[in-house]
This record gives sequence, structure tokens and C-alpha cells, in this order.
Amino acid sequence: MIKLHDIAEGVKKGQLRALAKAITLVESRNIDHSVAATTLLDELLPASGNSIRLGISGVPGAGKSTIIEALGLHLTGLGHKVAVLAVDPTSQLSGGSILGDKTRMEALSRDPNAFIRPSPSGDTLGGVARKTRETMLVCEAAGYDVIIVETVGVGQSEITVASMVDFFMLLQLPGAGDELQGIKKGVMEIADAIFINKAEGDNRPKAELARQQYLNALHLLKPKSTNWQVPVRLCSALHKQGIAEAWQTVHDFTQAMKASGEFEQKRRLQATDWMWTLTMNDLKDLFMHDRNVAALLTQMQQAVAQGITTPGAASRRLIEVFKRGH
Ligand code: GDP
Repeated sequence: MIKLHDIAEGVKKGQLRALAKAITLVESRNIDHSVAATTLLDELLPASGNSIRLGISGVPGAGKSTIIEALGLHLTGLGHKVAVLAVDPTSQLSGGSILGDKTRMEALSRDPNAFIRPSPSGDTLGGVARKTRETMLVCEAAGYDVIIVETVGVGQSEITVASMVDFFMLLQLPGAGDELQGIKKGVMEIADAIFINKAEGDNRPKAELARQQYLNALHLLKPKSTNWQVPVRLCSALHKQGIAEAWQTVHDFTQAMKASGEFEQKRRLQATDWMWTLTMNDLKDLFMHDRNVAALLTQMQQAVAQGITTPGAASRRLIEVFKRGH
């Protein structure tokens, strides 16, 4: 029998064993565990939210883990407690999590004020995102006041991470700026800051050029907020240059957003959007696993494919039999 209340109390006291247990529950695929996790999260919710949620994305090799380690150590040095989580839906394909890997952030993983959790694996992006969001709440309840969510700069996962954080940082490389690294317009639009890493030594002029190109590209976009101009900064994570400035940028951003009310507004919107995503997913699951629907589904699909029934009529019938069973 899992004593949920004890786990919740342990988490709130910042006990690592309780934190690990809570996250195991959140990440579990066992149905009893998910019910328990929901109860636990309800109990932890009032203690969560007191953090800055920071998303970092960039192509593999951009220097994400290097900058997260440097930033993480800078932050624990300032007295913060830092949790590093990862969203990597490809981890089951690559045979293990490539993100949040402890060996990549060795010094940070030894820091008692840092907590590193690799991406939950073996799941769809939706599943990984759900677990990461919930883990984020658990970490906040445990007193971590900076949550860093790392993701790879390929595909939908960036948009997903942006939808769960306060500040989204795009980490880019110098030199490839000519074609803006094939950067998707959608990703530029969600960035709150762009950092060009490895901007040291011979790379410096290339990094300056890339910076100018990003600034030009940003000018063409409609700003997300009238209270924030997306900065493009240079850094060298390896040489710990630009790390304090990166944190200053996050700080300036949150100050501006809090002053205008956008900070709270965004969090409220993210929470309600998230509720709808969960509701729609669960509803779809219920529908697809409904016995009455399953009995009729193949028949309806064939009838529509053969032009015997219209898609509209078939859909209505499926929903009717679903409603009858509930
Ligand atoms: P990730 O895949 O985005 O997490 O990238 P990593 O942090 O693993 O970095 C990839 C490689 O780039 C590693 O060999 C790092 O040591 C190196 N690297 C990271 N930051 C810098 C930097 O500022 N300058 C240079 N020259 N190399 C860096």
C-alpha cells in the first residue's frame, strides 16, 4: 500500500527519496499508479508554481548540456535549487535518453542543490510531455525554484516544451547562420531569446554575423509581447562566458512579464490548454476503447470507403452508440 500522504509530505520537505517515489508514480504506466499520481499531484499542487520555468532547445551538439551545467552551477551558486528535466520522445528509438543524461552534466549532478531527471522514455510526445509537466510540479513542491526543461531542436517537441515554460531559449551555432540553420519560422516565433553558443576565438566574427541575421529575421516577425524584444546574444558555454548574462536575460524577462501581468496570464492559459489537451486525449481513448464503438467501427469505415454511407452519417452513428453506453 502506497502512503500517498507520506510521500507528499516528504516531497514538501525536499526529501530526495520521496521525490524519487513521486516521480516514479508520475512516470509509471500502471493504471493504479496513474490514479495514485493524480491524487498525489492534487495534494502537491498548492505547494507548486513558485519557480521560473525555463525551456532550452537546440540541435544536438549546440551545447545544451554544457550551457545547462554552467547555468545550473551558476544558479546553485546564487542559492537557487535547480531541477533539469528533458523532453525527448525519440529516446526509445536512440536506445536510451540522449537528453538529461547524467554523465553529460557530471558536476551539476553532484551538486546537492541540483536534480537531473532524464526524459521519460518509451512514449509518444504527448506521453512524455504529460510526465514532464507533472514531474515539474513535483519538483516545484520539493522546493526547486528554477526548472530547466531541455529538448532537441528537431520537430514538434520544441513547441510542446514552449507550452509548459515561462521562458523559451533557443541555442544556436555560429557559422550556419547563412541559411539560419534551416530554422523553422514557427520556432523563431516561440523564442524569448536566442543565444549563439561557441562564440569564442575564431568563431566570434561568424557568431556576430549570425546574430545580425537572426535580428533581421526577428524584425519580420510580429512580436509576442509589446513588453519584450527578443534579444540575440553570444555566449561560450564551454568557457562560461555569457552565462550570468543569460540568467540576467531570464530575470529581465520575468520582471517585465510580471509587471505587465503577462506572466500569470500565460501560466493560466497554459494550465487551461493543458486541461483541454488531457480531456481530449482521454476522451479519444475512451471512445476508441468503447465496446459499442469497436463493434461498429470496421463496418462504418468500410461503408464510408465504399461510398455507401457519408462520413458525417457514420460519425453520427458512432457517437450515438458511444453515448448509449455512457
Ligand atoms: P548538446 O547535444 O546540445 O547537449 O551539446 P553538448 O553540450 O553535449 O556539446 C556538444 C559539444 O560542443 C561538446 O563537445 C562540448 O564540449 C562542445 N561545446 C559546448 N559549448 C561549447 C562552447 O561554448 N565552445 C566550444 N568550442 N565548444 C562547446
